[in-house]
Amino acid sequence: MLEITLSFLVSLVFCTLGTTIGYHRLLAHRSFRCPKAVEYFFVGCGYLAFQTSPIWWASMHRIHHKYSDQEKDPHAILHGWRRSVYGWIFDERYPEYLDKNLVSPDLVNDPIYRFLDCNGDVQKGHLLNGFLNFMCRFAMVPFFGWKIALGSLLAGLAMQQITLWFNLVSHMPQWGYKNYDTADDSTNNAFLTVLTLGEGLHNNHHAVPGSANNSMKKGEIDIGWWIINGMRKVGLVSWANDGFAHRLESNLRISPNSTDIKRFGPIPVPSEQMQEEPVLVNS
Ligand SMILES: [Zn+2]
Ligand SMILES: [Zn+2]
Repeated sequence: MLEITLSFLVSLVFCTLGTTIGYHRLLAHRSFRCPKAVEYFFVGCGYLAFQTSPIWWASMHRIHHKYSDQEKDPHAILHGWRRSVYGWIFDERYPEYLDKNLVSPDLVNDPIYRFLDCNGDVQKGHLLNGFLNFMCRFAMVPFFGWKIALGSLLAGLAMQQITLWFNLVSHMPQWGYKNYDTADDSTNNAFLTVLTLGEGLHNNHHAVPGSANNSMKKGEIDIGWWIINGMRKVGLVSWANDGFAHRLESNLRISPNSTDIKRFGPIPVPSEQMQEEPVLVNS
């Protein structure tokens, strides 16, 4: 049991980093730059956390930012909690208003991501992901034993659930606080922040989506950013948007210097979706 638990916990850290650093901050937002080998490592960790096609994931997420909590937001709460958590992943195809060649040209150009996307057949992409996840754990057995493999598999499945429920909980204003008066319901949730190594600072993220750093004031801890910044210091990351221009002074909710947020936004997404500048909640 100890072996399974330890394998689960260590694997969960890698699954979380693969999702937050690989899929979210790197692929969906291009908030830092790194060599392709580093990108594939983190994306691989996310893929083994049942996050499925990188193109699908990042494109749906870019659309989530564009239409947050509106009709076209794939997992908006207004569609009901069942669709918000699970229903949206069972759609056969991409939404008709989402052309992945326009929304994610940077990802469509990558042959590995293209292969994993199964020609836009979303369900086929999920099945391939499930198949490769299980095969990878079977392949681990002769080398590490079935307990390590099982712990790793359970961590991947747990991360899948955390991601799906994250989409609902991170847009529940009653369960957190807002620093920025964004046009959506995104919320900073302390529990999610601990659970996902910094992703739970979701209101900060919606205000400054291109920042690799979600911590926007003293006391907000973003371990994902610590790791990205650490990699920058040792040369594994060549550039990262630290978001410091929009950081809030202590608890004083003063207006940050107005810099052009658009340049921090996801590279291929039309700039009009980005807010001109974060609007602060009046204290
Ligand atoms: Zn969101
Ligand atoms: Zn995002």
